[in-house]
Amino acid sequence: MTVSSDLKQLVAASRKLGANPKLVLHGGGNSSLKAQARDVAGRPIDVLYVKGSGRDLAEVEARDFPAVRMEPLLALRDLASLTDAAMMQALNGARLDPDAPSPSVETLLHVFLPATFVLHTHADAVLALTNQPNGEKLCREIFGPGLAIAPYAMSGFALAQTAHKLIAKHPDAWGLLVLKHGLFTFGKTADEAEKRMLDAVAKAGGKLRSARTKATSQRAKRVSPPLEDIAPVLRGAFATRNPDDTWNRWVGDFRTSAAIRAFVDGKDLKRYANAGPATPDHVIWTKPKPLILDALPADLPAMQNYVRDAVAAFGQDYASYVARNAGRRAEVSAPLDPLPRVALVPGLGLFGLGRTQREAKIAADLAEANVGVITAAESIGRFAPVSEGDLFDIEYWGPEQAKRERANAKGTPALQGQIAVVTGAASGIGAATARMFAANGASVAVLDLGLAGAEAVAQEFGGLGLACDVTDARAVKRAIDAVVQHFGGVDILVSNAGAAWQGEIGTVADDILRRSFELNFFAHQSIAQACVAVMRRQKTGGSLLFNTSKQAVNPGANFGPYGLPKAATLFLVRQYALDHGKDGIRANAVNADRIRTGLLTDAMIAQRSAARKVSEDKYMRGNLLGEEVTADDVARAFLHLTLSPKTTAAVLTVDGGNIEAALR
Ligand code: ZN
Repeated sequence: MTVSSDLKQLVAASRKLGANPKLVLHGGGNSSLKAQARDVAGRPIDVLYVKGSGRDLAEVEARDFPAVRMEPLLALRDLASLTDAAMMQALNGARLDPDAPSPSVETLLHVFLPATFVLHTHADAVLALTNQPNGEKLCREIFGPGLAIAPYAMSGFALAQTAHKLIAKHPDAWGLLVLKHGLFTFGKTADEAEKRMLDAVAKAGGKLRSARTKATSQRAKRVSPPLEDIAPVLRGAFATRNPDDTWNRWVGDFRTSAAIRAFVDGKDLKRYANAGPATPDHVIWTKPKPLILDALPADLPAMQNYVRDAVAAFGQDYASYVARNAGRRAEVSAPLDPLPRVALVPGLGLFGLGRTQREAKIAADLAEANVGVITAAESIGRFAPVSEGDLFDIEYWGPEQAKRERANAKGTPALQGQIAVVTGAASGIGAATARMFAANGASVAVLDLGLAGAEAVAQEFGGLGLACDVTDARAVKRAIDAVVQHFGGVDILVSNAGAAWQGEIGTVADDILRRSFELNFFAHQSIAQACVAVMRRQKTGGSLLFNTSKQAVNPGANFGPYGLPKAATLFLVRQYALDHGKDGIRANAVNADRIRTGLLTDAMIAQRSAARKVSEDKYMRGNLLGEEVTADDVARAFLHLTLSPKTTAAVLTVDGGNIEAALR
């Protein structure tokens, strides 16, 4: 497509507004340009370039703006009514290119407004002013007669028609404010519309600063148990058992700051936090209300009961909200899940919660934005957003439900919502396992001695990279705390870090044997212990996986210093399976042999194959299948063990077949 300079200007202005989280977040806001184009026959036609549905303003490109014919859409202006389905059909049908993205649901509003350029945001400062009982009066005083003000209406045909009638009466307006939703500004150029947007937001910010009557909300003295104690309990309360006996788990994204603390510690928290989100769109990611955990006991069983009860009560409250409002929308097929997406903990901060890290992050970002808007609104008056029914209309809007059903139909990755810790994960088997678990949907913490190596692997899939000397029990505890603070818990441990020491057992130095025991036995024990503590807080079982070795069952000459602790670790697996089966925690091992890694280097392979007088290739393929065994083969074995809900105390051999080393 050829991109006109006007469209380039629109893209640039959209990206600038989109990059400012105080103006829009996560797909919020939109923009448009009216222009002339030519149809296939070469005839000139009036078109609107409008942001595609679901596109993020911060990252839009020209191709994210489908061109729609103005004429068939203008013909809808005077209809008495139009269903959402018919509107979407008309919008999609008006695209010049049927393969272009679906136009924004606010497209008709852009079509009916006469301005060449239209920009739309949900600016925090504007929302703090309009979400007031006297919001309309306040906004008229601040913005003057040049801004047209429409009462709240759901985005779509009704709002577009209201806007059209209003602007017909105010042809010189520089913008349109939709109460309790957001601001549209107009311009002959993109620069003009952008300047008007920024000026209005600055004016709103100035008003908030000058009108502030209360410092912040009245704060109650709050103390809370620590984050790493609470997060696993919260995740545990969200988890449900699937029909195949695997766990359906959630991920958390924790935030705190002075502003968040002032908000969650406020005496009136329940009133203002339960009032609703700052702009109705947020409801899709945040639900109408947050979960408030304001009386958390420190004692573990009491905390577990309290959080479970609070989540259950939230679910009942959500079910009655759905029942109260279901009659508003004919297309409501079934209630959505009754779990909260935001949890507020006085004395601590807030959690975003989601099935994936992305969902949890979006919920946390929006919750943080709401803290800002609500705090500002409360400092000049009282926060008063749209009604519960208006929120329901957005949450259960037909096209939105269809989008969710399409996403669900795609299926979920096997490890979605699961949090895995992999040690020795900067290279070799650890890195291959971390990658494979992440590719199957897990949130993965990559632990290794050096931070740079751990982070390099973690950043490939948006995981968490941590430096950790696994032979230092305190460092292990700190690392597991960091994983819990970052993702909310731990479900899977792949204890993989190890190193091979050699020596003839009758003469080997004591020091070598002890060093090997530190890494090849005690390190497995201390990290397993730290993970079991988290798993028991979650109360939803867990999967412990250990990398043992062929040496644990079939010793090689002069490999005693390596094989002895590995044999102890093999027994450790059985002890964990025995002692923690009652907690639903499974313990399994992979017994791998002859994998080309940092432990079996190319130089070692050259040396050993020469000693056996075979080629390197033949040496690596010296097994029953006659094929080299790779780090990915081992990673797959770990994956299979973790996906087998009834398997514990098992050892899975990955060596291409070796009868001498076969378990008996
Ligand atoms: Zn909007």
